[in-house]
Parts: sequence; structure tokens; C-alpha cells
Amino acid sequence: MAKRDYYEVLGVAKGASADEIKKGYRSKAKELHPDRNKDDPQAESQFKEANEAYEVLKDAEKKAAYDRFGHAAFEGGMGGGGRPGGGFGGGGQGDFSSAFSDVFDDLFGDFMGGQRGGGGRRAARGSDLRYNLRISLEDAFAGLQKTINVPGSVACDSCNGSGAEGGAEPVTCPTCSGMGKVRAQQGFFTVERTCPTCAGLGQHIQNPCKTCKGAGRQEKERALNVNIPAGVETGTRIRLAGEGEAGMRGGPSGDLYIFIEVTEHGLFQRESTNLYCRVPVSMSKAALGGSIEVPTIDGGRGRVQIPAGSQSGRQMRLRGKGMPALRGGGTGDMFIELAVETPVNLTGRQKELLQEFEDLSENNNPESSSFFSSVKSFWDSMKG
Ligand SMILES: [Zn+2]
Ligand SMILES: [Zn+2]
Repeated sequence: MAKRDYYEVLGVAKGASADEIKKGYRSKAKELHPDRNKDDPQAESQFKEANEAYEVLKDAEKKAAYDRFGHAAFEGGMGGGGRPGGGFGGGGQGDFSSAFSDVFDDLFGDFMGGQRGGGGRRAARGSDLRYNLRISLEDAFAGLQKTINVPGSVACDSCNGSGAEGGAEPVTCPTCSGMGKVRAQQGFFTVERTCPTCAGLGQHIQNPCKTCKGAGRQEKERALNVNIPAGVETGTRIRLAGEGEAGMRGGPSGDLYIFIEVTEHGLFQRESTNLYCRVPVSMSKAALGGSIEVPTIDGGRGRVQIPAGSQSGRQMRLRGKGMPALRGGGTGDMFIELAVETPVNLTGRQKELLQEFEDLSENNNPESSSFFSSVKSFWDSMKG
């Protein structure tokens, strides 16, 4: 395959300025970095290609040689225009060439996340995983057993997670002597950088496992049996230690967090361990009193007594019919709010009776209701 043009590789125009070249490289390095493209050989080779291109184009002398002679400037040790020298790209070994370390610190925060550990780290811990689980209020009340399928990586079968072919132990990295970092002299300064050979792991695999390409882990979906306890609510996190992503090269696994979301219920609103529901009640029952039946979250039914003369909005309590507390500590209550309904579609007889009722109410005690008396005193005060 013909070698691609270095400018094209970095996505910049021929004759681009040093700044544009740096910008172009930076965005390619971000896009193609192996940490973002696990097990993607194409991204890996493009990443190396971008490193090589930048190594040449950032150097004024090499760039001039390349502009004049193209790739031929650097082939076979032949000195075209400038001094191509031995050291760019470094051939096979490094995913992190020296070109990369140039903008390394800028990029570090982006894709290494919190992994920037001290030197001498032996093997990287796997990432934590988050799994969002939606459940019904009934399930939150009773608790449930659930099997979830967790995509992610597990320790490689072929090498038992070591990353080395045939299960051979990785050796201490020769570049950094296992420190995971190297020091470089830059003018007056000594700069410490993550080791380019082992990417900071401190270990080096001479003969990488063919199945996992040395990573020590492989993609696999796992079925996990999870016990969701009674009383969970939206926002509850359940931690399953060690069920996250497998570590790199036999490192410890991360944790799996199950984030619970309890869906809205058609009838009950929940506030911590208490439940609230509105129950319609007929006007005559609210006035005369009586008992009504209400559904409860456990699937059963409860009875509440309505005192005579109950107004709309009155709350009644059913003790112990709410939600269980998550870590023991009893059960909440259920509150029933009465919604007094005005009767509609009356028969002739019903109308008659209500009219009679209305007449009696007006003749008997028109001034007795607290509403009427407060309206009267309001008008009195306006007149005065
Ligand atoms: Zn090393
Ligand atoms: Zn393997």
C-alpha cells in the first residue's frame, strides 16, 4: 500500500502553518488514541501514521526535506535534503511515540480520566460500570430478583488475563524498569513522562496473547443475577463489588453500580416511605359518613372510615400500608385524600330530593356556615 501524504494524514492543507499542523495532529491523536479505540487495529495503525506524520512536519528541517522529496526523503537512510536521522516513530514498539508526548499533557486529562496513578502501578484496575434499571412501584415495594445482561470485558480465557501468550508472566518493562515513568532531559529541565513502552503499566509482554492482543481481557456479555431489596427508590445505587469491567493484564475488576429508577405509578405518589392517593367519594357519603374500600400497594384492599361531614381534600391515614424502609426500620403509611364528587346525570327523583335538600338548607340555617358568615362580615366591613 502506498504511503499516504503526511498533510493528508493530519487533515491539513499542504503548506499549513506550524500551528495548523499541531492542531491537526492534536485532533487526530484524540480521535485515534488506543484508549478510545480498544481492539481496533485500523485506528491503531492510523494513530501510528499520525504520529509519524507529525514527527516530520513539526520539525522545520524534516518538513523542508519532505516538501521537496516526499517520502523518499526518509527512505533507506538516504539523506535527501535534511538529516532524517534515526529517531522518529521508533518502529513497532511505541503506541506513544515522542511526537505524542509533545501534546501528551494536554490530552492526558481527556482520555485517561482518573487513571493517572503513581509510577510502578503493576496492572490497571477495570472501569466501574453503570447499569440503569427501571422498576415499578410494586417491585420497589416487594423487592425483586432480576437477571441483567452486562456488556463489558472480562479476563481473557486464553491467557487468564495476563495478556501473555500461553499464560507466561509479563516481565518488568525494560524501558522504565517497572516504574511506569521515564525521565527525559529537555534543556535545563528534567521532565517525567509516562513510559512509552508499557503505557505506565510497568510491565512488558514479550509475546502478547493472540486472542486479546495483550490487553488481558475480552468483550463478553455476562448474565448477572441481581437481588433488588424492598424499599429502593429513584436514585438508589446498588454496588456490586468486582462485577465491573475486568482489569488490564490481570488487574482487579471495577465495580458495577445499578442505578434504580422507579417509574411513576398511576394511583400512588410516593414520598420517602409514605404513599399518597386521591380517592373519589360521593357527595352523600362525604356528608353522611361511612366506609370506603381503597386499593393498597401490596395488591390487596384496605377500608377507611369517613367521618360525617368530610370535605374534599380531607386526608385519612392507613397505618403501615406505605413502603418499607430500605434498611429495615419499619413501613410507612398510606394517606388517602378524599375527592368529593358532585353527582351528574341525575334522575328526576334524585333532582327532587336534592331540591328538597337545598330548600331545607336555605330555610333552616342560611347563616350558620362559616363561609357565609365570613362573606357577611366582609361586606359589613366594606360598608363601615
Ligand atoms: Zn515501561
Ligand atoms: Zn489473552
